[in-house]
Amino acid sequence: MSLPGSPAATVSAPLPARAVALLPVLSDNYVMVLHDEHQAVVVDPAVAAPVAAWLEAQQLELVAVLQTHHHSDHIGGTVELLRRWPHARVYAAAADRERIPFQSDSLGDGDRFTLLGRAVEVMAVPGHTSAHLAYYLPGGPGYNAELFCGDTLFAGGCGRLFEGTPAQMHDSLQRLAALPADTRVWCAHEYTETNLRWALSCRPEDRPIVERLAAVLDQRAADRPTVPSSIGLERATNLFVRSGSVAEMADLRASRNDWRG
Ligand code: ZN
Ligand code: FE
Repeated sequence: MSLPGSPAATVSAPLPARAVALLPVLSDNYVMVLHDEHQAVVVDPAVAAPVAAWLEAQQLELVAVLQTHHHSDHIGGTVELLRRWPHARVYAAAADRERIPFQSDSLGDGDRFTLLGRAVEVMAVPGHTSAHLAYYLPGGPGYNAELFCGDTLFAGGCGRLFEGTPAQMHDSLQRLAALPADTRVWCAHEYTETNLRWALSCRPEDRPIVERLAAVLDQRAADRPTVPSSIGLERATNLFVRSGSVAEMADLRASRNDWRG
């Protein structure tokens, strides 16, 4: 786990085996690093320099990059990281072969592989983009289940529908919501406070949302990240996850897009 602030602030005493570190980059992006004592897997490196600096400081070898989708704030640092670690694999959607041309391992829904001794399950979750992937790592003795979901499921929200339909996003979120409740949700942006302020404007009396927003305001006041969330928390407080129909999903998405708080 990690501390807030610059990536260097996440450096701490001996690394626990198979931890996930969170590196804040750009204005509100998070780059996640799954690692053991020697090797690292980076999820959606928006930029290279702070990621490379953190890996070097920890003396970690980059062995793989997981890409959730083709947007520049998710793939922007990958090619530069490959110059420093040319043997690293790059996992991405086969359907994004043209938009993520540096991929070495081309994936589709249901594909499975192993990284750092952890099983990785690929889930196609279209909606934000047409070929968006999520990576689910089941839990086991001594380690959590992890979900790297890019810009599909956010803490308290979901991604904009740039290429997909409300029906696709509804299906994608319902699949993610069916994962175990204690799965940690590592989304790629710090949008939680705004998402929950919007949610509360829609459901002013909703006790779980009221309580979560209060907790999130405390976290943000202390300059702490609100990521990771959990599947259980999203089921309880995320209006998009709670949405019972495609029509409601479409209405919620339009409301969120228009919301200026
Ligand atoms: Zn995106
Ligand atoms: Fe993004």
